Amino acid sequence: IRPTTDRPVLDTQTLWQKDKDHFIHPFTDFSVFHEEGCDLITDSEGIHVQDSRGNRFIDGIAGLWCVNVGHGRAEIGQAMADQATRMAYFSTFNNLSNAPAAELAAKLAELAPAHLNHIFYSCGGSAANDATIRLVHYYFNRLGKPEKKRILSRNNAYHGTTYLAATLTGIESNNWDFDTLDHLVTHLSEANCYRRPEGMSEAEYCDHLVREFEDTIAEVGADNIAAFIAEPIMGAGGVLVAPEGYHARMQAMCRANDILFIADEVVTGFGRLGHFFASEAVFDTRPDIINCAKGLSSGYAPLGATLISDEIYEVLGTPQRKGGVLSTGFTYSGHPVSCAAALKNIEIIEREGICENVREVGPYLEEQLRTLSHHATVGDVRGSHFMMCLENVADKITKELLPVEARVGDRVAFEAQQRGLIIRPVGHLNIVSPPLIWTRGTVDRVVAILDEALTAATASLRKDGYL
Ligand code: PMP
Repeated sequence: IRPTTDRPVLDTQTLWQKDKDHFIHPFTDFSVFHEEGCDLITDSEGIHVQDSRGNRFIDGIAGLWCVNVGHGRAEIGQAMADQATRMAYFSTFNNLSNAPAAELAAKLAELAPAHLNHIFYSCGGSAANDATIRLVHYYFNRLGKPEKKRILSRNNAYHGTTYLAATLTGIESNNWDFDTLDHLVTHLSEANCYRRPEGMSEAEYCDHLVREFEDTIAEVGADNIAAFIAEPIMGAGGVLVAPEGYHARMQAMCRANDILFIADEVVTGFGRLGHFFASEAVFDTRPDIINCAKGLSSGYAPLGATLISDEIYEVLGTPQRKGGVLSTGFTYSGHPVSCAAALKNIEIIEREGICENVREVGPYLEEQLRTLSHHATVGDVRGSHFMMCLENVADKITKELLPVEARVGDRVAFEAQQRGLIIRPVGHLNIVSPPLIWTRGTVDRVVAILDEALTAATASLRKDGYL
């Protein structure tokens, strides 16, 4: 990270207080926050971030699975500044447009599977999912099938926190004390190979999940189901890789039952699994709709996009029967500054061969993380390429979990942070989802830190009587 002398000095103590008094943080445990306040991240460059005390960390979570090209890319900043000074904002409603939005739509159509050629912009992943479901309902209404409303999602899926996206989300604790729009969504089991029923092979487990899907269609009625939405690899729900063939079989069943297949590629898109989109390249599926956000702009500006098939567009885009307009969209749909950031981000991914780096370094990251399996708490190391997770358990044979109060994920993350690495604790899990520019050398440093962190966390769990 460059010396801070050329950057304005921040009054971090005052900022800390202002934050504590006024900023309602997302996903925050107030019992801790009221005591400790925030950690202020002030600087970032490449694979590193720095906090207000001058501590420097390797970023093991790409901000929040999003800073795919790494931090401090001056050329993205410049592209945004150029666009902001030339034309920062104007409406895209009706027939108005702007250069970056048009350019980016065409670029996304080029990168996406061949049949996805139409782009609906939003401001992030939740909004993209919400907008998608509204468009899907609109599509079936226009086809004269207004009863097709129900969306099939999965337990432990994460699709966001706007009202409808939170309902699609299947992580129970995310909706504690919140309301959900239950009449619109039915949740199926997640595909969790680690915790599949005892004695079932992976292939049998896949059959089992497919049967559940069939039974649900029979129960709810294909005439009432609009779509099935799934992350190619479930992210926040625990980096769950489905059994071989799962997605393709789900898609075949969708097709047979006139159910749209939506891939939420908010995390898996833009290189994390070694391709711009994982659906076709990795999972051999041809979704009717792909949603993306995060890596689309590498987090340099808020942006989401829904990529829509020619077939669906034909219904959405034909002149309205009632002479109306497609009355949905946001003030910031196709925001010029966000689209300029995304275009430069994509240019960097292509120019630097970032997908190729992930295909090369990803298997090494998987292999090296697996060497941590000897630690007492590490029950499972899973994921793919730059989307990985450690599952901590009390007992590796029974897979029994440690009590929630043991805060095992927090302990491991804390010990890693003490040693200069930020990873993400999610309950008993630790997620590693780094910028896509990690090298083999970075992996070696990270795994050495994690090795020490796990040793220290195990010792502290023993000391406190949890192991
Ligand atoms: N879908 C998936 C798969 C995600 O992981 C996320 C965010 N982690 C979202 C949707 C929601 O995106 P956002 O936070 O940008 O609204």
